[in-house]
Amino acid sequence: MVGEGLRQCLEQPDLWRGYVFAGGLLSLYLAESWAPARVWRTPRSKRLGFHLMMAVINTLILRLIAVGPLLFFTAMARERGWGLAPLLGLSGAPEIIFSLVALDFLDYWWHRLNHSADFFWRFHKVHHVDTHVDVTTSLRFHPGEFLISSAMKVLWVAIVGPSLLAFAFFEAGITLASQFHHTNIDFPFKVERWLRLLFVTPRYHAAHHTVTLRSREANFSTIFIAWDRLFGSYQEPDERELENLGLPRGREGYLSLSETFLGPFSVRY
Ligand SMILES: [Zn+2]
Repeated sequence: MVGEGLRQCLEQPDLWRGYVFAGGLLSLYLAESWAPARVWRTPRSKRLGFHLMMAVINTLILRLIAVGPLLFFTAMARERGWGLAPLLGLSGAPEIIFSLVALDFLDYWWHRLNHSADFFWRFHKVHHVDTHVDVTTSLRFHPGEFLISSAMKVLWVAIVGPSLLAFAFFEAGITLASQFHHTNIDFPFKVERWLRLLFVTPRYHAAHHTVTLRSREANFSTIFIAWDRLFGSYQEPDERELENLGLPRGREGYLSLSETFLGPFSVRY
C-alpha cells in the first residue's frame, strides 16, 4: 500500500517537487529563526516577500518558455538511448545516483563559468548582490540566468542521459541543497565538519558570498563538496570575511525590483 502510494507520488514530479520546495523553505526559515549565524539588518519579512515575488516571476517565465521543451528533450534523449547512463546500461537506483552525481558535476563547472565569463556573471551577480545570505537567497536568481541554464541543461541531458525520474531527483536535490546551504544557521563546528565530508554546508557556502574575492572566487559546489576539493576551489571560511557579504557595488538597491531585473544590463555593479 505504501509502495503503491510512493510509486504514484513519484510519477508526479511536479507535485512532489512542489512539496520538497515548500517543505524545505518553511522548515529552514524556521530553523534560522531558532539559531541564526548572522544578524539581519533588513526585516526578514521584507526579504521573504521580495524573494518570493522573484520566485513567482521566475516560475511563470520558466513554465512558459523552458520547462516543457527541456522535459520533452529529456524524454526524447532517453528514448533514443543518448548519453552516459544508457551507455553504461544503468537503470533504477544506480541510474538515479549516477545521474545526480554527474549532473551536479556539470553544475559545478557551470557555476565556475558564471563567475569567470563576463556575460554570465552579469546575470549571476544579481544573486550575489544580496547583502545577507539566508534561505530566501536561494530564491534570488535573475530569470535570464535560469533561462540560460535551462539551455545549458539540454547539453547536460545529452551528455548524461538521465531518465525523467532521475532528472526530477536532480532538480529537487539542487533546490533542497541550495535552500540548505544558503540558510543562515549556526551549526556547531563539529556538525559542520561532519556534514562537510559529503555536502556543501551553510558556513562553507556563505564564504562564497563574501565581498572579498578570496573565497567568493571559490566554493562553487552545489550538492556535493567533492568537486571543490578535487578541482582546487576549496577555501576555508574566514569569520572576519563572513561579516561583510554581497558585492562592493549596488548594495543599496538589492531589494529594488527595477535594479534587480535590470541588473545584468546596468553598470552600477
Ligand atoms: Zn556564485
